[in-house]
Amino acid sequence: MKKLCLLGATGSIGKSCVDIVNRFPEKFSIRYVSAHRNIEDLFALAQQFRPEIAVLSGTTVEAAWQTKFKRIGVKIESGVEALAELAGQSDYDLLVNAVVGAAGLQPTLSAIGQNKNVAIANKETLVTAGDLVTRLSRQKNVQLFPIDSEHSALWQCLVGEDPCSIERLILTASGGPFRELPASEFKNVTVEQALRHPNWAMGQKITIDSATLMNKGLEVIEAFWLFDVDLEDISVLIHPQSIIHSMIEFRDGSIKAQLGLPDMRVPIQYALSYPERIANDLPRMDFMQFSELTFMAPQTDKFKALNLAYHSLREAGTAPAVLNAANEEAVYAFLGKKIRFDQIPAFVEDALEKHSNHRDVTYESVLHADRWARRYVGEKII
Ligand code: NDP
Ligand code: MG
Repeated sequence: MKKLCLLGATGSIGKSCVDIVNRFPEKFSIRYVSAHRNIEDLFALAQQFRPEIAVLSGTTVEAAWQTKFKRIGVKIESGVEALAELAGQSDYDLLVNAVVGAAGLQPTLSAIGQNKNVAIANKETLVTAGDLVTRLSRQKNVQLFPIDSEHSALWQCLVGEDPCSIERLILTASGGPFRELPASEFKNVTVEQALRHPNWAMGQKITIDSATLMNKGLEVIEAFWLFDVDLEDISVLIHPQSIIHSMIEFRDGSIKAQLGLPDMRVPIQYALSYPERIANDLPRMDFMQFSELTFMAPQTDKFKALNLAYHSLREAGTAPAVLNAANEEAVYAFLGKKIRFDQIPAFVEDALEKHSNHRDVTYESVLHADRWARRYVGEKII
C-alpha cells in the first residue's frame, strides 16, 4: 500500500488522482490531503479517506467546520505553513503535488527534505526553482515523477535507454484554441473563449497558459530540469490532435513517441504506480477515430510567450521565477477581466526586462524575485 500526501486534491489533477486511488484502494491510500479554499470538497474527501491531517491552505477554518472534521476524527489545519508542514510529515510514501502556481515550491522542498519521492504536476515548482529542486533531489536521492503528459511521455520513452543517447526532446503542443486566429484579433479574445481548450479539460490557469502557449514555454523549462539536456535540444511541435504526447529523437536517428487519448489519469496512474504498470479500464484509443495526425511549427511571432520562456532560461538565475510570477499575475488579471488577452505576454516581457537577475538560485532569491515580479505587474495593472 502506497500512502499518499495529495496536495491540491480539489483541482482538476487532484480529482483525477482521487479517481485513480478509488480504482485501486488496495494499492493507494490518502494519508494527508489539502485544498486551498474549497472546504466542502475537502471535507467530502476527509469523510471518504479519513486522512490523518487535512489542510486548507488559503483561508482559516470556521468553528462549525472544525467541529465537523473533529466529529469524523480528522485533524484540520490551515495556512501556507501548515501546507509545508503537511508535506514535511515523515510517515507517507509519495507526495503528489497538484497545487497550481509557485505556491507549490515550498511543500515540494519540504517533501524532498524528508526524502520523499515527488509525483509532480505542479510545473511552476520546476520553472521557478528547477536548479534548487533538482540539486536537493540529487543530494537526498529523491526521484521526481512527472505527471505533466508531455514529461510523462518523455519519461516513458526513456525507459531502458541511456540518457546520453538523447539527441533531442520534441514536446508536442495542441496549439490551443487560437491557433488559427490572426494575431490582430488577440486583443478581442474573451475569457470565455480562452477557457475553451480544444482537447483537455483543466484548471483555469493552465487553460489560459495553453491559449497563450506559455504553458509550452513552462514545459520547456520543466523538461530542461527533469531530463538534463541542453536547451537547444528541446524543440516544440504543434500537433493539434494531442495524441502523441511527446517524442525523443536518439542519436542514431530513431524516434520514440508515447501516444494515447488525452486523459490525465494515464500519466497520473503511471507516476503513482511506477515502475509497475497496472491494468485498468480507462477508455482505449480507437485509431480509426484519428486517421490523421498532423504537425506544424509553432508560430512564435504570434505567440510571444514561448520565446520569452526560452529567453528566461538562457538568462538563468531568477529570470524564470520572474517569468512565472509575472505570468501568474497577468493570467489572474485577465481572468478577472482587468487586462486584455494580448497583454499577458507583454506584462511578462516587461517584468523580465526590468528585473535585476540573481544568479544564485536559493529559496530566498527565488522568493524575492517572485514577490518583486508580482508587485511590479500588480502595480502596472491597477
Ligand atoms: P486547478 O486550479 O484545477 O486546481 C488547483 C488545486 O490547488 C486546487 O485543489 C486548489 O484548491 C489548490 N490551490 C489553488 N491555489 C493554491 C495555492 N496558492 N496554494 C495551495 N493550493 C492551491 O489546477 P490544475 O489541477 O489544472 O493544475 C494543477 C497543477 O498541475 C498546475 O501546476 C498545472 O500546470 C499542472 N498540470 C495540470 C494539468 C491538467 O490537466 N489540469 C495537466 C498538466 C499539468 P481549491 O480547489 O480549494 O481552490
Ligand atoms: Mg502538459
